[in-house]
Amino acid sequence: MQKISFVIPVYNEEDNLESLYREVSDIARKLGWPYEFCFVDDCSSDGSLAVLRRLAEADQRVRFLGFESNCGQSAALYAGFQHTTGDVVITMDADLQNDPADIPAMLNHYGDYEMVTGWRHSRQDTLSKKLASRVGNSFRNLMTSETIHDTGCSLKVMNGDMVRRIKMFRGLHRFLPTLMRLEGARVLEVKVNHRARMHGVSKYNNLQRGIEGFFDVLAVRWMIRKHLKFKIRQSHV
Ligand code: UDP
Ligand code: MG
Repeated sequence: MQKISFVIPVYNEEDNLESLYREVSDIARKLGWPYEFCFVDDCSSDGSLAVLRRLAEADQRVRFLGFESNCGQSAALYAGFQHTTGDVVITMDADLQNDPADIPAMLNHYGDYEMVTGWRHSRQDTLSKKLASRVGNSFRNLMTSETIHDTGCSLKVMNGDMVRRIKMFRGLHRFLPTLMRLEGARVLEVKVNHRARMHGVSKYNNLQRGIEGFFDVLAVRWMIRKHLKFKIRQSHV
């Protein structure tokens, strides 16, 4: 492993960012590999960007992008992927619900797998959110022939080259295991810790996510069906 890039989308998370930065830095230092942060501020209306500026002034490993308008989590992730160079990319939410302490165990599987994705098996969210997520995951799995329990878990360890090849569209962050598989990745899901949100609010509601998610599933199903799977028999190029 040459370098880890932490890609973290940020939308109105000002009270979470310093602790997140500290927690991830502690883990990354213990791991001992070079690392960088790429925070992507999705046009927050609170002081998130100011906090990121402060963090970047104090630590050259902190880089950030600030969007001109709110473009959504997929756009923020995509921009982050394209602006980082780590051979390993690790994503997580900026809200401290993911626990960076899970990262070393996830990295133990990296190499045998090109994607290790978290499964929040004891999720600290509202009952309605947990139910909606269960329905969403079952429907996604049925339609895309997957067996992922929790594709919505943002804590993911991915091969940087593969994830940078993926052309993201709005909403497609929920399909990263499938999209990575299409790029040739072997995908492993591992149980991870999940914590309650202490600051800020969730940016999604179940109805909007359900409606959007339904059409996104159809798009991904199409992608799977039409994916180019050629193998070269002979080459003289
Ligand atoms: N986020 C973003 N743009 C958006 C909505 C969310 O960058 O338009 C970020 C948000 O700050 C967080 C992550 O994406 O870091 C996931 O959002 P959230 O935690 O609100 O979703 P939940 O975990 O509740 O499903
Ligand atoms: Mg979250």
